Amino acid sequence: MMTYLDNAATTRVCEEAAQAAVDAMRENYGNPSSLHRMGLDAELILTSARKSVAKALSVTPETITFTSGATESNNTLLLGAAHTYGKRHRTIVASSIEHPSVEETLQCLEAEGFIVKRVKPRSDGSINLTDFLYAVDNDTFLATCMYVNNETGAINDIGEIFSAVKFKQPDCITHTDAVQGFLKLPMKVSDMSADLITVSGHKIHAPKGIGAMYIKRGIRIPPLLHGGGQEKGLRSGTESVPLIAGLGAAVEAQLPNIPTAYKNAQMLGDRLRTQLSALPFVTINSGSNCSPYVMNISVQGIRSEIMLHFLESRHVYVSSGSACSKGKTSRVLTEMGLDAKLADTSLRISFSKMSAWGEIDLFVTALREGYMKLEKTS
Ligand code: PLP
Repeated sequence: MMTYLDNAATTRVCEEAAQAAVDAMRENYGNPSSLHRMGLDAELILTSARKSVAKALSVTPETITFTSGATESNNTLLLGAAHTYGKRHRTIVASSIEHPSVEETLQCLEAEGFIVKRVKPRSDGSINLTDFLYAVDNDTFLATCMYVNNETGAINDIGEIFSAVKFKQPDCITHTDAVQGFLKLPMKVSDMSADLITVSGHKIHAPKGIGAMYIKRGIRIPPLLHGGGQEKGLRSGTESVPLIAGLGAAVEAQLPNIPTAYKNAQMLGDRLRTQLSALPFVTINSGSNCSPYVMNISVQGIRSEIMLHFLESRHVYVSSGSACSKGKTSRVLTEMGLDAKLADTSLRISFSKMSAWGEIDLFVTALREGYMKLEKTS
């Protein structure tokens, strides 16, 4: 039996999304730009999926653009905002714990001459409003802060942070990478004071290679890709109708069940916390106020990859810190002030609505067994 506890890296596609994608590949396979009936039917799939994503964010459909995923959304939004709004003012304020698709885009902007001020998290991994606000000054034209951290599950109060930013610097554009909060935690755009939002499909049981971006009406973002003018010119290239159909179906399947799935994740997290607190060689790095979907731990003296491969040999799948930072010491944990030894031995356990009670026990048993075996050789 397999124990999959790596849902912050990616999730299993749900029945509804798989079916919708297959239908769009095998039945409604027209090109949405075609003027005939098949094209129109494909266009209707896009319209319906756009409505679903918009409903999930409580916004209007024309503010949603489909992309190939969160990496593309983050790149388009940050580069676009900087190139449009960063002419007179040049400073961007960001958290120092952003996903590489934000952090490395910011590094590109720095290379172009923009100034990036990075705000460190508190020891619980979350960004403090006062610290963030302190970094904002009259030269700040863009602020970006993720909603839920992908390595620790730390939640940032985006509404509170961004409304204070707007109060201090009313013209500042605000962006949040909401990938790990979308359809997991409450998310109403009007409560978030966010002008730009990034979401991804494969973290919510849709296929990989599909995501979306929200752009508040009136905000001008130039395209990254030029060509056929799809997505109102913002994202050229024939739309991936099957993936978009899958995203729409996954959203519809998840949306009514957010509270139930949240409670389930909370129960799993509580069970895991209880069992881990009985193991003296485990430190839990995620605070109790983190997203219940993600828990970061350290296993004394055993490097992450070594434990990860032992667990794999027991058919238990988790991540070493973040799936995107293979082999490197986690920047997020280091920024939180965690000692390098704890950071190098960190594991990330993450749940989805498909995670089951029994998986916790199997994980803890394998972890204990792994520690007994590996501590002798380390
Ligand atoms: N942002 C966050 C917070 C993530 O966790 C991820 C995926 O790990 C991404 C962005 C990138 O998403 P995608 O794989 O859709 O490009």
